[in-house]
Amino acid sequence: MSLKISEDCVACGVCLPECPVSAIAEGEIYVIDAKTCVECKGYFDAPKCAEVCPVDACVPA
Ligand code: SF4
Ligand code: SF4
Repeated sequence: MSLKISEDCVACGVCLPECPVSAIAEGEIYVIDAKTCVECKGYFDAPKCAEVCPVDACVPA
């Protein structure tokens, strides 16, 4: 299970340093590596990227 980043991403970069497993890569639209993302289980109560994203672009994959 993982999250993905939707087309709503505005490439603000806020999510990148928040990911505890470095699953997010920058780009024109940021990308979550589905194999690396653990949905923040064991780190936070809820997916951190979704929490910090200003445009709600981090969504269930
Ligand atoms: S849900 Fe957590 S582990 Fe997955 S990409 Fe977002 S911050 Fe990283
Ligand atoms: S916080 Fe949201 S808008 Fe900003 S780079 Fe991450 S996914 Fe894109």
